[in-house]
Amino acid sequence: MAAQLRLAKLFSMANTLTTCTACGSTCDDIQLQIDTQAHVMRTDNACELGQRWFATEGDTLPPATIRGQPATLEQAVHHAAQLLDEAKLPLVTGLKQATIEAIREATALADALGACIDWTTSAGDAAAMLALQTAGAVTATIGEVAQRADMVVVWQANLTATHPRYHERYLDKCTSPWIDTPEQRTLVWVGSELCEESEKASHAILIKPNSSFESLLVLRAIVSGVELDAEAVVEQTGVSLDVWQDLANQMKSARYGAVVHAGELGASRESVIEVARLVAELTATTRWVALPAGSAGNSSGAASVLAWQTGFPLAVNFAQRVPSFGPDEWTTRRMLARGEADTVLVVASDLPSQLDSSAAEALAALPMIALDWQPTATLKAAEVAIRVARPGVECAGTTQRSDGMMLPLRAAWDTDSPTCEAVLRAIATNLAARS
Ligand code: SF4
Repeated sequence: MAAQLRLAKLFSMANTLTTCTACGSTCDDIQLQIDTQAHVMRTDNACELGQRWFATEGDTLPPATIRGQPATLEQAVHHAAQLLDEAKLPLVTGLKQATIEAIREATALADALGACIDWTTSAGDAAAMLALQTAGAVTATIGEVAQRADMVVVWQANLTATHPRYHERYLDKCTSPWIDTPEQRTLVWVGSELCEESEKASHAILIKPNSSFESLLVLRAIVSGVELDAEAVVEQTGVSLDVWQDLANQMKSARYGAVVHAGELGASRESVIEVARLVAELTATTRWVALPAGSAGNSSGAASVLAWQTGFPLAVNFAQRVPSFGPDEWTTRRMLARGEADTVLVVASDLPSQLDSSAAEALAALPMIALDWQPTATLKAAEVAIRVARPGVECAGTTQRSDGMMLPLRAAWDTDSPTCEAVLRAIATNLAARS
C-alpha cells in the first residue's frame, strides 16, 4: 500500500519546479523530472554544474550509523544527544546546504546546549560579514539590477565559470521600462587574470595581482575628487590614472550601476569595505549598489537566521546562556584549530574539505555527529551519521539567495528519510528529557 501511494505521488509530482543551490546564482526555474524509482531523470533549465548537482544521489546511504555500524534513527538520535550532553563546549557548524528551517532548529539546539554555533569555514566568509558590519551596504536584489542597471562592474570574478547562468538570468535579459536590451548595459570587468568573464565585458581592466584594495581606493579617491599621483597609481595598481579616471567618469554618469564581486575580494575585509564605500560615494549623485555574487548553498541564509535569532550573523557562543559574539574567537576554523570544541555537530556540509589542515586535523580527533543527504567524507567519518531528506528534491524548505531573497525548495517526491530539522528537534527533545 505504501509503495502504491508512493508511486501515485511520483506520477502526480513527476514534474516539479524547484531551486538549484549548486552556485550563488540560486536558479529557481529548475524543472525536475523523476522516474518511478525516484531517480532524477531530467533537470530542465539547469546548467552542467546544476545537472551534476542534481545527479548526486544519497540513496546508497544507510538511514543511520554509529561508529560505521548500521543503527536505527532512534539509536542514532539517542547517541548523538548523549555525546552532546557530555560535551563541555560543543560546536554546531556546517549549515551550508541546510534550509532556513533546519538552521533555525540548529540555532535553538545550540542555545539549549550552551554551545557555539557558526557556519564560516573560510577567511572570506567571515570577512564579507564583518565588512558589512563595518561599512554597511548599499544594495538591491539581483532582479532589480537585472531590470534597471545600465552599468555593471564585475570585480575580480569569473561568473561565467563559477556561476554559469548568472549572465543568462540576470545580466543578458532585460525587459523593463528602464532598460530593454542588453546592449544598453555597459559591462566592465576588473581583475588580475583574464578569463571568460573578461572576454564578455565591453571593457576589461587588468590590475596587478592582489591589488583590489589599492585599485578600489584609487577609484573612490577619483570619484571623491581627490588628486592622485599618476606614477604612484600605476605602481600600486598596474593601471594608468587615465584608465581609472575614465572608469570613474563612466560610473558617475550611469543612471543605475552595480558592482558584482566574488572570489579574491571576498577574502579581504578591507576590499569589501572599500566596495561598500565606493558605491556609497557614487550614490551621492546617482544610484549604485554592491552585490556579492554568492556561493553555493545557503550561507547567506545561515547568517540571516543567526542574526534574527541571536543578533549576530556568525560565531555565536551560548555558553553564558545569552548569545555572545566572537568573530575572532568562535568561528569554526578558530575553535577547531585552538582545540576549544570537544564535540562537533555538522549540519548539511562537508566540513573537512572546507577547512585548512590544522582545523581539519583537530576535527578528525573529535567526536562528530553529521546530518546530511550527500555521501560525504564527513558523513563517513562521523561517530553518528544520519541520512536526512534532501531539500529541493525529497523535502520542501526555504533557501536564501545572496541578495536576501527567500526561494522555495520543493519536494519532487516523498522519502522515508526524516528532514534535517526533524532530526535536530528529536535530538533537542532527547536532551530535554535528560535534564
Ligand atoms: S547557474 Fe548555478 S544555480 Fe543555476 S543551474 Fe547552474 S549551478 Fe545551479
